[in-house]
Amino acid sequence: NTFVDIDLGELLNQNIRRCKYVKPTPVQRHAIPIVLGGRDLMACAQTGSGKTAAFCFPIISGIMREQYVQRPRVARTVYPLALILSPTRELSCQIHDEAKKFSYQTGVKVVVAYGGAPITQQLRELERGVDILVATPGRLVDLLERARVSLQMIRYLALDEADRMLDMGFEPQIRKIVEQMDMPNQGVRQTMLFSATFPREIQRLASDFLANYIFLAV
Ligand code: AMP
Repeated sequence: NTFVDIDLGELLNQNIRRCKYVKPTPVQRHAIPIVLGGRDLMACAQTGSGKTAAFCFPIISGIMREQYVQRPRVARTVYPLALILSPTRELSCQIHDEAKKFSYQTGVKVVVAYGGAPITQQLRELERGVDILVATPGRLVDLLERARVSLQMIRYLALDEADRMLDMGFEPQIRKIVEQMDMPNQGVRQTMLFSATFPREIQRLASDFLANYIFLAV
């Protein structure tokens, strides 16, 4: 019933200790082994449940093993291995801050891109390399249209607060984004869908984006 019992690796465990996390929250206890075990996940979890770490830990653990894979060399285009989509700038920055702490000294690079701010600084940041991209849907579509980001190498996709993203009208952007990955899902990518509620529209996203997924309600 500690993080050490979950096989995340020594480096990640050190970072978890540094963050003063001792005991996994219920969503972490259940979600992390599911994702480490290679399954897709639909999780109903509220803000404050610890869901950020629940999707960040298995992503970082997986990317630590994959960060040295050969990526295409196309001028000015970057190929992240993981994508975390979130509805707002505030939430994206929060996830980015936490993911950076969790990936301290792992060599895993985390970059954030959100709308409502100049794109230049974000482009400069991306050019320095990115393994995990945290983004809001609108800004990511912009980056894809400029061919500055390619989703061809995505191994992990997490959609955080999916119900809120749909309420904000982001469904077309989200579909456009996921269509640029391994679609239909052929098992190259693992997908995690987090939502506080589970209405019909979220069920539809789950059946379109997830493959043989486990449903978790905490
Ligand atoms: P979240 O639901 O991901 O926004 O997390 C809510 C808050 O709980 C954040 O401030 C986290 O840093 C903190 N937190 C998440 N998991 C743990 C844990 N296992 N132990 C202690 N604090 C945690």
